Amino acid sequence: MTDCLFCKIATGDIPATIVAESERIVVFADLSPQAPIHLLAIPREHYADVAALAGADPTLAGELLATATQAAQSAGLDDGYRVVFNTGRDGGQTVPHVHAHVLGGRQMSWPPG
Ligand code: AMP
Ligand code: ZN
Repeated sequence: MTDCLFCKIATGDIPATIVAESERIVVFADLSPQAPIHLLAIPREHYADVAALAGADPTLAGELLATATQAAQSAGLDDGYRVVFNTGRDGGQTVPHVHAHVLGGRQMSWPPG
């Protein structure tokens, strides 16, 4: 997609602090961290949300999850962390390119806001 922030991060047209990347996935630091570690894992290919991704390419959805959890491990989040896919308006999604938030380094609360 030409006018998508995360597509542009995936191509390098918009700078980001990239912590891991593979042929199909990029992991970078969230610009507005909500925890000491706050990463975003995205597929390079554009899908609006996790439902669109899982429906179209379950293998890539699995790769996204595997890469997100590997990034948590690499970040040293041995005591736990949270993986979140905000989805759609009620889910609080603000960037319409599927992304897994990986949050850790502090005690998370439940229920989420
Ligand atoms: P969501 O609200 O679930 O769609 O999450 C979007 C996330 O993208 C938010 O946590 C933002 O802080 C983050 N974000 C927005 N712009 C950028 C950017 N240029 N680089 C890194 N993270 C960003
Ligand atoms: Zn995109």
